Amino acid sequence: MNLWQQYIRPTTVAEAITALTSAPGPALPLAGGTDILLDLQQGRHSPVHTIVDLTEIPEMKSLELRDERLFIGAGVPLSRIARDPLVVTHARALVEACDLVGGPQVRNVATLGGNVAHALPAADGTIGLLCLDAEAEVTGLHGSRCVPLPELFVGPGKSALQSGEIIVGFYIQTYAQGGVPLTGTFLAAGNGDGRTYASCFKRIMRPQGVALPIINLAIWLERNGNTIKQIRIAVGPGGAVPFRARKAEAFLADRPYSDETFKTALEALVAEVKFRTSAMRATSEYRYHLVGTLLKDTLETAWERAG
Ligand SMILES: Cc1cc2nc3c(=O)[nH]c(=O)nc-3n(C[C@H](O)[C@H](O)[C@H](O)COP(=O)(O)OP(=O)(O)OC[C@H]3O[C@@H](n4cnc5c(N)ncnc54)[C@H](O)[C@@H]3O)c2cc1C
Repeated sequence: MNLWQQYIRPTTVAEAITALTSAPGPALPLAGGTDILLDLQQGRHSPVHTIVDLTEIPEMKSLELRDERLFIGAGVPLSRIARDPLVVTHARALVEACDLVGGPQVRNVATLGGNVAHALPAADGTIGLLCLDAEAEVTGLHGSRCVPLPELFVGPGKSALQSGEIIVGFYIQTYAQGGVPLTGTFLAAGNGDGRTYASCFKRIMRPQGVALPIINLAIWLERNGNTIKQIRIAVGPGGAVPFRARKAEAFLADRPYSDETFKTALEALVAEVKFRTSAMRATSEYRYHLVGTLLKDTLETAWERAG
């Protein structure tokens, strides 16, 4: 059986939207194909009429600073994100997340847009982006909108994208503004008033085989001396959608970094996270058992980077 009838390779976002919305049957965007081709081949996704390949659209391959924000095109391969100096400088957690996905062959074709659009709660790129408070630029027949990342997810494997909509790219706030030099070597960005910013992504993974981690965690924080001014913590798979530990974040904000604060923050995180058992990866109990160690490890690294 043919998995599709028609394969289109547009060169602009507008052409891609037209191809998706005017197809005479079900149509799907395709980027690296590392998720969707397997889903089609293995019957998890029904055959479609039209595949719209997004890989020839220059705008979706762009990676640049726009005003004070970093723009990463949804079609940029993960291997490029992991070594791009702008991302290394402004979004270290994303570098670490992208660099751990699959192996080199997967990372050379897999994209951040595909990682996010697939909407899995523990997708590594998604968890890295979530701690960075990224926004997605979404375009469809009725124009473009910027969507805060958490609003893109509806449930496991279900995004809020409407039929015919695509993610064009992602925006991330940068923190080295006004020509102020960075502190550290690509590790922390500061704005010259004593506040510094850093991020970190880590995961615990089975040594071989399955694509997604047992558990992953990403942290962005603002540090001022010995105080955590602001913090964002993303954990996968911490619920039906990519999870932010908002109670733990609220507790940690404006507090000194200490063993005592860490202990209470972990209790807050454990009370709100909802780990489940995945047949191929880990039991829920095992994830609860691991999360404290991973939180401490990731927080310590982000804290030191911001120092
Ligand atoms: C061997 C192997 C190992 C893997 N390891 C990992 C891992 O360690 N961590 C991890 O997180 N993932 C892993 N993955 C999963 C996969 O590689 C990633 O999720 C990848 O980022 C998907 O990107 P893609 O470009 O290949 O997406 P595709 O397969 O092309 O698309 C995925 C979905 O997103 C949609 N889509 C793609 N681009 C857009 C867009 N711009 N706008 C709207 N919809 C879009 C497609 O229609 C499809 O539904 C692995 C996969 C394999 C095969």
